[in-house]
Amino acid sequence: MSRYRLLPTPAQQAVLRDHCGHARYVWNLAVEQHAHWHPGRASAPGYLEQCRQLTQARAEHPWLAAGSQTVQQQALRDFAQAMAAFFDPQNPAGRPSWRKAGRHEGFRIVGRGRQWDVRRVSRHVGQVWVPKAGWVRFRWSRAVPPGATSYRVTMDRAGRWHIAFAVIPAPVPAPGNGQAVGIDRGVAVSAALSTGEMLHCPALTARERRRLRRLQRTLARARRGSNRRGRVRHAIARLRARETDRRKDWAEKTSTGIARRFDVIRVEDLQIGNMTRSARGTRGDPGRNVRQKAGLNRGILRSGWGLLVRRLEDKAPGRVEKIRPAFTSQRCSACGQVDRDSRESQAGFRCTACGFACHADVNAAINIAAGHAVTARGGDGVARPVNREPQLLLQSA
Ligand SMILES: [Zn+2]
Repeated sequence: MSRYRLLPTPAQQAVLRDHCGHARYVWNLAVEQHAHWHPGRASAPGYLEQCRQLTQARAEHPWLAAGSQTVQQQALRDFAQAMAAFFDPQNPAGRPSWRKAGRHEGFRIVGRGRQWDVRRVSRHVGQVWVPKAGWVRFRWSRAVPPGATSYRVTMDRAGRWHIAFAVIPAPVPAPGNGQAVGIDRGVAVSAALSTGEMLHCPALTARERRRLRRLQRTLARARRGSNRRGRVRHAIARLRARETDRRKDWAEKTSTGIARRFDVIRVEDLQIGNMTRSARGTRGDPGRNVRQKAGLNRGILRSGWGLLVRRLEDKAPGRVEKIRPAFTSQRCSACGQVDRDSRESQAGFRCTACGFACHADVNAAINIAAGHAVTARGGDGVARPVNREPQLLLQSA
């Protein structure tokens, strides 16, 4: 991931904020138009029609017209792509939803050479051209990938600006050693490999967690709208952002390493999205053990599992196989016996038939490594080209 800290001047920040606001406005307009559409009705306006409407809206609203047409049109194009992903049965993307002020702040620029460019001005400083803002400085913390064709500028909840250059990560060549690895997602450890390795996704340190809890208590006591409250919220957001950064970094490094070492990578098909959504249940079918499941789900999310799998699919296209997870944790990887009593505890596995003992997650990972590719999304286990759209790459990052 090529993400850099953007360092706009106060005047440039105002321009960037406007861009974010316009992109959000246009996106939400498109969401609203599509919300009224049902199967059987005349189709919702497509991209070209929306562009015509945008021209009209710009004629009517001076504040919109004052903004960058490039930014606004790109937001429509992004929305069209998101809708296409939503209707693609091979793609797990959900329906594009509302973007909220303060939460989803960002815009995208494509067309390097015409709309934007990047240059390095000193050892630690680069500049990127943003429409209407001019050259904006960013921290040159590593080389900008030469193949970058677009970028996305975002502001996080802590008020920090970032720029991410979109490159499709080059597939990592398979080692050609014929080896398959199984990966089991855990909660205590983030992932266990069938080789016996345990992977830990870094989270906040004990000290940082203590600080977070203290800040949260302070926040609960702080008066609404007070300066103190603002400061505390800012500090909390920064801690959270730090945790996210660590998780992303871990997923990048780990996925590259695994893609480099193994020809075939087998993971459980967990459909993380469904799991995290389902705990609360629906109105007709309220979830049971909601609190326990919510805790578990938070752990899964924190472990960065979903991110790791997406990165593996990017870097090892066609080499990742999703395995139906049934019984992987109750089955003995040595003799094949399935017995729930073999699972002694969260971490311990001891086969009731042959006595084979192993870390429970590693035992599951070995079963997954031996698994048969299935039905995850397509049905027949044939590897399909994964979605290699740079925009989605950034959204997932
Ligand atoms: Zn056994």
